[in-house]
Amino acid sequence: MSASTFNTMRHDWSLAQVRALFTQPFNDLLFQAQTVHRAHFNANRVQVSTLLSIKTGACPEDCKYCPQSGHYNTGLAKEKLMQVQAVLDEAARAKAIGATRFCMGAAWKHPSAKDMPYVLKMVEGVKALGLETCMTLGKLDQAQTAALADAGLDYYNHNLDTSPEFYTSIITTRTYSERLQTLSYVRDAGMKICSGGILGMGESLDDRANLLIQLANLPEHPESVPINMLVKVAGTPMENAEDIDPFDFIRMLAVARIMMPQSHVRLSAGREAMNEQMQALAFFAGANSIFYGDKLLTTANPQADKDMLLFSRLGILPEAHEDHADEVHQAAIEHALMDQKSSEQFYNAAV
Ligand code: SF4
Repeated sequence: MSASTFNTMRHDWSLAQVRALFTQPFNDLLFQAQTVHRAHFNANRVQVSTLLSIKTGACPEDCKYCPQSGHYNTGLAKEKLMQVQAVLDEAARAKAIGATRFCMGAAWKHPSAKDMPYVLKMVEGVKALGLETCMTLGKLDQAQTAALADAGLDYYNHNLDTSPEFYTSIITTRTYSERLQTLSYVRDAGMKICSGGILGMGESLDDRANLLIQLANLPEHPESVPINMLVKVAGTPMENAEDIDPFDFIRMLAVARIMMPQSHVRLSAGREAMNEQMQALAFFAGANSIFYGDKLLTTANPQADKDMLLFSRLGILPEAHEDHADEVHQAAIEHALMDQKSSEQFYNAAV
């Protein structure tokens, strides 16, 4: 692989090229991904976000994997839009445990005019705490996108979920082109994009490749690319989906890293089902972002201290705020890690 391979930002991937990445020997793929990763990032830093569900359940969309869809009976307790102050309290708590980005998710088809003023106040308040802000609210129109950007929203999450070809097997209430349109509005408004997909829904290797092609061939790569492992929730049409080979999941992370060298590739939903060895392999493949905290929307997420302990054992530190060197914040995180290093469970990977 030439030096230029490590630094090229490509937007013209073909299916044959991406298939070739996926199907090469596992060690060759991981070596290539790790080499690309090191050309663009500190390989021992992982960005940490916290995710809060600000409005839960009763979503009119029919995403077959989602416990929040009103189309399926999953026993999920529905909640109205949270009060602004309650959201800000959660954001302060997330900051205290080391998160640098606070993501707020609402189970909506799109935000309503009635809810927008509250949503904007949440963005302003979380921003004022010194956290990066991210929201996922469904489809946006241009005016809503502009208002969110004006309020200080840094990232908008809107996943493509899967390939265009497989998409209608998973969702029928919103089109792929509507999703791409929302991403285009977000980009035009100057915000950063968080967009990725889910593995384990019965998709083929070509579907995985075509999802990554959709993301990497956008005019600009999404800054954040969450790769989720399906969480099989009872009551959803996906509750009995077949497990995927864990190595295929790692391959997806590695190929995403190679195709979008400067994006944060996020190890996202489904992480709780992964053992520590698999998570370590995911970081080696180029994943450099995680969610932590108590919950990942409505599914359980490993506890923050467990994550910090794994970071310690791997010699990984949480990444500081992207836009400015928040030395005080970083020092607090490193101090917390040093405390854990002194615990008897600590295994010093550097020795
Ligand atoms: S994934 Fe999002 S849009 Fe789809 S049903 Fe769940 S909350 Fe609604």
